[in-house]
Amino acid sequence: TFEVIFVGRSNVGKSTLLKNLTGRNVRTGKRPGVTLKPTHLYFDDFLITDMPGFGFMSGVTKEKSEDVKNNIVQYIEGHADRIMLAVQVIDGPAFVEITERWDSRDEIPIDLELHDFLEEMEITTIIAANKMDRVKETEKDELLTEIVEIFGYGTDENGESTGVGWKESGALVAPVSARGGDIRPLISHLKNEFHKMKRDDLFKHF
Ligand code: GDP
Repeated sequence: TFEVIFVGRSNVGKSTLLKNLTGRNVRTGKRPGVTLKPTHLYFDDFLITDMPGFGFMSGVTKEKSEDVKNNIVQYIEGHADRIMLAVQVIDGPAFVEITERWDSRDEIPIDLELHDFLEEMEITTIIAANKMDRVKETEKDELLTEIVEIFGYGTDENGESTGVGWKESGALVAPVSARGGDIRPLISHLKNEFHKMKRDDLFKHF
């Protein structure tokens, strides 16, 4: 089995993106802490896994939110041998503010924690920055650079920007708008990674 996992905070548009990419519906109306289990989409020996959304929402305690995160980590550890790729979906326009809010509470944002964990597990991770339709064309580059720098790309050992910009930062970033059906940058990253793994055949599922 060749598995690709999709991770992301609740409401970033992960279901919409998966629907767009595969034409199939994943569970919808899920709330963080309500669904702890991942959902699978099967395509022969190819498996796409929608991990439960994490983060806070009204009615969900911090403990429950931690449960979701721990479940995700456990799942990844348990299936590391077959997880070939991860797509980390973020809400592009909201991301900076969300991470700053965590930072001000002296906590590590879950998104960053997960990203580092995936890197430790040596799982190639594509950052899908969704909802880019909400960002002005002239502000996109600046926002994407800010996002990759938060993830630790394009920065020096002190975390200061090196000024390279998102495209040269080494991060795999796909600015997309799932609702608008504009997901080509994600498709081309997936195509590239499948090619590197000599699994060009998997591309037929998209
Ligand atoms: P999930 O919880 O991550 O699975 O998120 P959903 O796919 O359920 O989407 C959450 C909300 O974001 C819905 O209201 C979607 O219509 C909206 N949404 C999803 N993708 C986009 C997008 O590309 N642009 C905008 N503006 N809204 C989006």
